[in-house]
Amino acid sequence: MENKFYLIIAKNTSQMLKVDKTLRENLIKTDLVPAPPESGTVCAIAVKVFEADLNRAKSILLNSELETVDILEDRKLKLQGLIDRKLGNAVTNEFLAILRKIEEGEDLKKDEIVYLLSTDKEKEIETVFHAADRIRKEMVGDVVEIRGAIEFSNYCCKSCKYCGINAQNYGVNRYRMTEEEIMEVVFDLYETGIKTVILQSGEDGTWDTERLIELIKRIKKATGMRVTLSVGERTKEEYMALREAGANNFLLKIETTNREIFKNIHPDDDYDHRIQCSKWLKELGYINGSGNIIGLPGQTAEDIAEDILFFKDMGINMIGIGPFIPAEGTPFEHLPHGDIEMTLRTVALTRIVCKKVYIPSTTALASLDKDAQVRALLSGANTIMLISTPSRYRSNYRIYDHKNMVDMDAAVYAVKKAGREMPVYLKDR
Ligand code: SAH
Repeated sequence: MENKFYLIIAKNTSQMLKVDKTLRENLIKTDLVPAPPESGTVCAIAVKVFEADLNRAKSILLNSELETVDILEDRKLKLQGLIDRKLGNAVTNEFLAILRKIEEGEDLKKDEIVYLLSTDKEKEIETVFHAADRIRKEMVGDVVEIRGAIEFSNYCCKSCKYCGINAQNYGVNRYRMTEEEIMEVVFDLYETGIKTVILQSGEDGTWDTERLIELIKRIKKATGMRVTLSVGERTKEEYMALREAGANNFLLKIETTNREIFKNIHPDDDYDHRIQCSKWLKELGYINGSGNIIGLPGQTAEDIAEDILFFKDMGINMIGIGPFIPAEGTPFEHLPHGDIEMTLRTVALTRIVCKKVYIPSTTALASLDKDAQVRALLSGANTIMLISTPSRYRSNYRIYDHKNMVDMDAAVYAVKKAGREMPVYLKDR
């Protein structure tokens, strides 16, 4: 008889990891897997155990301090009808075998992801996008979450070679918003009904952790909005203090999991340290964001497949995938931009592999082609970030050239064109 499995769900990733650790310490065999759609949690992962171990697992957890939200039978997400006769000779047998795994809800291996990222057969590509879109619908539904981002400072002490606001770029007009200026935008967002504000900046020592804490507390007190930080690398103690002040989410992209490329593009960062930061964020109970850049010099489909598996293994909740776009005044200013098609395929495969996660249809995609943002929504993406930086500063937050203005109108356009729904919490929508 086939083995039956159960999924234990905790309220956030930090609790989930503790559940996993506690069970393992008690010699129960566990596996971390993508969370199922019906789990009432924002968590991307669940702890999978054998049916035979379930009762013992339950009593261990009952005797611990750990809170579980749910225990569900593991039913693989089956997608009927992906394979149909019409595919005929337009696809290879290898493709059909991979597709069957997706239909059965089985995990894809690296070489299978590479195949899907690299195939040049029209019908295969179309089918991959279709599968991702169906999984998106099952896992996170039709509503496109809308967030507002305030790029509050373009001062940065780092020299990331791709980034237009790196410390070495002397052509940049530097600005730093004050707390009052930021609050003004926060209130505007609050008025529209938006629930999450993203605070993004370069690594600016003047906007230090102490100041950020004051800001976060003020936002929380005045609006109760969720706060996402995207302010780069800090110490564990700082991440903890920011979390305690009320920050909910954190975006810290790994950019690439290829160590050599990482080193080449980040003269002052260490790969292992960045991973460590991401792990701290998880431990501290943040909804954890990562992501990559597509089209970095030397990057292959193998590298991108590794990135996708990394997001899954790390239990990342939000995954930002954007094409590389050259920025004037950087060492990479003359390199070609990343491929839109490859970016869309990465979005699709990330959805297929990681399942219950937030995937933005990124500003970088919108900057290369307005309709690429629509296409990303049709290939697995389910959120849009509005650029809410005041117009007097906006053009100076030029992490890459020709950065598009994604405002509410652009978001409505993309959501409508993709046949999806705006969130009910937005007023007048
Ligand atoms: N300082 C913060 C925020 C960085 S900006 C941090 O280090 O996390 C946010 C994201 O913009 C980066 O993570 C990177 O993925 C993206 N980005 C920066 N320059 C880019 C470029 N030239 N092309 C594409 N994406 C870029």
